Amino acid sequence: MRVAIIGAGISGLSLAYYLQKLGVPYDLFEAGAQVGGNIRTVKMHEYLLELGPNSLQCTPELDELVRELKLERDVIHASPENDHRFVLRDGIYKRLPSSPFALLSSNFFSWKTKYRILQEKNVPPADIDYETVAQFFERRFGQEVAQYTVNPFLTGLYAGDQQRQLIKKVLPGLKELEMRYGSVLKGLTLQNRGFNRQKSFSFAKGMRTLPNAIADKLVSLHMEHRVEMITRSQGRYIVSCASSGDYDTEEYDLLVLALPAHQAAELLHYTFPGLSAALQNINYPPLAVVHSVYNRKEVTGQLKGFGALHPQTEAAFASGSVWSSSVFDGRCRPHEVLFTTFVGGSQAPKNALTERTKLMERVHTELAALHMISAEKPNFQYAHLWKHSLPQYDMYIEDAHQMAKSLEPEGLFIAANWQSGVSVARCLRYAKELAHKINLKRPENLNR
Ligand SMILES: Cc1cc2nc3c(=O)[nH]c(=O)nc-3n(C[C@H](O)[C@H](O)[C@H](O)COP(=O)(O)OP(=O)(O)OC[C@H]3O[C@@H](n4cnc5c(N)ncnc54)[C@H](O)[C@@H]3O)c2cc1C
Repeated sequence: MRVAIIGAGISGLSLAYYLQKLGVPYDLFEAGAQVGGNIRTVKMHEYLLELGPNSLQCTPELDELVRELKLERDVIHASPENDHRFVLRDGIYKRLPSSPFALLSSNFFSWKTKYRILQEKNVPPADIDYETVAQFFERRFGQEVAQYTVNPFLTGLYAGDQQRQLIKKVLPGLKELEMRYGSVLKGLTLQNRGFNRQKSFSFAKGMRTLPNAIADKLVSLHMEHRVEMITRSQGRYIVSCASSGDYDTEEYDLLVLALPAHQAAELLHYTFPGLSAALQNINYPPLAVVHSVYNRKEVTGQLKGFGALHPQTEAAFASGSVWSSSVFDGRCRPHEVLFTTFVGGSQAPKNALTERTKLMERVHTELAALHMISAEKPNFQYAHLWKHSLPQYDMYIEDAHQMAKSLEPEGLFIAANWQSGVSVARCLRYAKELAHKINLKRPENLNR
């Protein structure tokens, strides 16, 4: 049994890695000259810039993988004293309470909202099929919680809009708690899960360390092999690739798409037109990532935290920033600070498309006002535009999920962030589970 995997982002790479461990033959095709897809670290002058993910959440799969790849010494943990998140409220940053006790004792929420939170256990559960994240939180906790915590959280994680993202897709665990225990807070307490955030980490040489280390282990990775066409013949997949002016064609029993939905849609146009059409409907808003470096002494604000998020209601230009040099060492020179600012996403897509010089100026002006920066301009600034940033888990994704599932008996599988969830940790967990599922399809395992 031979498996073709298309796309060497973290999903395709980790699927290939787990298949190889299980002894399943595969070929992994990557169009570009580098692996990692969205994971992109760039070294410029003295600066280490993350164009995609800035940090990873510690999960059992990631811990295990880091150990297997012998990357323990390269790991750097986010400094615990800088773990706080800040939220823009009435034009100034307020620290987001990190525990229920802190929440009730702080002045982050009004008394009315605190009372509403305490009453959450009395709000009856409701099984509403296409309920959005905003509707769910407003129903259970009130509008202030939705506006000032959930909205910025979704913007930060998904570049998303809580008015459109579906609760069952984005935060299925919370929906389950409501249905099972009648209350999210009661469920969290009974399951003893609390509100602890998983710890964040990165690597001394940046996020790229992880995909590069996985790629080094793979025996059947084909770089600069762009898959241009997929056809089917007698139940097998015929994969046609372009590489250095040549054209290769190979046959496979199973096909795994590990690439963004719009790129998968093009490849499936003739073979699976229904799924191709559904994939074209998945929304990927544009998102700009702007890095700005200042002399530390020119920044009056404290920067003791992970970063800050801007709720839509505050009408800021950017959706928030990671205070990169506070979180991880080695991102800029010791006398400087580095901000990584996000502009656009689902809530303000037009902002991401602002002309580049203007975009950087506006980010500088906003940072200067929020952090009381005296510098007239940054020491260094760099902007990267993701024209198609992250898949939105809104009602349009449902069709694609259902259709993709129905094609699994035909030997077509998905390992990509529009199926698994967007975080690197979710991509990895999904790829591991899929590798085991594919392994069970080998003829020698079928009768077990
Ligand atoms: C700005 C930004 C910030 C983020 N921040 C975080 C964060 O802090 N933490 C976190 O956990 N996650 C974060 N994410 C999300 C996470 O990085 C992505 O969800 C994840 O990396 C997606 O991986 P993937 O393998 O599914 O897809 P991709 O990374 O998109 O990989 C797809 C691969 O397929 C290849 N490809 C495409 N077409 C073809 C073809 N025809 N033939 C062959 N190859 C092809 C591409 O070149 C690419 O390498 C962020 C994402 C972005 C964009």
